[in-house]
Amino acid sequence: MKFFKLSMVLALLVLALPVGAVERTGILAPADVKKEQDAVMQMLVSGNKAHQAHIVLKPGLPKLMMVSCADSRVEPEVIFHMKPGEIYTVRAFGNIVDKSILGSLEYGADKLQCHVLVVLGHTHCSALQEAISEHDNPTSVWRSLNLQDLNGRLQPAVESVTDKSLSDDDRWDAVVRANVFNTMRTIREESPELWQLEQDDMLKIVGGIYHLDTGKVEWLKE
Ligand SMILES: [Zn+2]
Repeated sequence: MKFFKLSMVLALLVLALPVGAVERTGILAPADVKKEQDAVMQMLVSGNKAHQAHIVLKPGLPKLMMVSCADSRVEPEVIFHMKPGEIYTVRAFGNIVDKSILGSLEYGADKLQCHVLVVLGHTHCSALQEAISEHDNPTSVWRSLNLQDLNGRLQPAVESVTDKSLSDDDRWDAVVRANVFNTMRTIREESPELWQLEQDDMLKIVGGIYHLDTGKVEWLKE
């Protein structure tokens, strides 16, 4: 029986490996990937040169900090029409918090004296789309423990939306909202420092949703 179980595990691992190899190789051949990498590096160097000519730094410390998604379309300084130096931002796919992010926020509250913390979700968030898909069709074998951990942090939001009458889009939207509240709750539960600052009225924690199609930020009521 034990041997049967072991051989099943081995078979699953062997089955999982080629899938990973195919997906990681992607569509481009390594030589084309190299060309793309070189072009990206060139873009970075010339972009940075242009930046050096127009550098604008806000003097003083930022007054607010923000948890936002890693999505390239959700750029806090651009969304709020602010300059570098005005927002202390930590970003992760799906605007989740983990120990490193909570530590960064505690630094922002303690050392930088930020008195406002914004948790910013956004419409059409791929992280939550993936989490919904994972919820409905769970992965049998995770290839990455990091992705498994990230998914675990997104699942409470998916699980909290139970209305079966919602369309796929409305469900996605509801999960995005629930996820902002979930991150706010996690901040309070897993960081006694930030929770205490909020209790002492030294930190205001607010949630918002950035609408990709209009550019508007909708502030959420708790
Ligand atoms: Zn996102």
